[in-house]
Amino acid sequence: MVRAYVALGANLGDAAAALRRAVQAINSLPRTQVLQSSSLYKTAPLDTDAGGAVAAPGNDYLNAVVEVDTGFSAPDLLDQLQHIEQQAGRERPFRNAPRTLDLDLLLYGSGRIDSACLTVPHPRMMHRAFVLVPLAEIAPDLVSAAQLAAVAQQRIEKLGWPDA
Ligand code: ATP
Ligand code: CA
Ligand code: CA
Repeated sequence: MVRAYVALGANLGDAAAALRRAVQAINSLPRTQVLQSSSLYKTAPLDTDAGGAVAAPGNDYLNAVVEVDTGFSAPDLLDQLQHIEQQAGRERPFRNAPRTLDLDLLLYGSGRIDSACLTVPHPRMMHRAFVLVPLAEIAPDLVSAAQLAAVAQQRIEKLGWPDA
């Protein structure tokens, strides 16, 4: 089993319900358990591609990060995550488009992967408060104070998970 971290995000439709269902779907995958889930966070839509952070289209996001143990290889885990996205009605009309569900593989053990369809650690995670803050909540040893300070300008608000 490998310890992995998955980022969840949504800003279309009932985002809280989509994230809750996604955590359950990940936990229901074969040979995979969700060990910890962060709080839910409300964040501004951002494009962090250029190293900085500029506004992206759409409503505020809900974000979370989960810690899993999995028997899947990293590419197979990504396939499973993409299947869960599709079940949630994910469409990709353009880059950074609003979405019903986004599942990104942040870390896969200590693995470093750079293939055509998978890069791990996720190449933009260190630029994103919506990843680093929930990751630090459940895995404080994986995020430094300096890394958090570098994204401290990005708006993020911690929420409880709403009742089911
Ligand atoms: P970003 O990757 O900047 O968060 P995004 O999540 O909006 O952007 P998507 O359209 O969801 O981008 O994904 C585009 C492609 O990224 C996927 O088809 C997948 O092959 C690839 N990809 C590469 N590395 C990863 C990773 N670590 N996690 C998820 N997808 C990845
Ligand atoms: Ca993403
Ligand atoms: Ca993605």
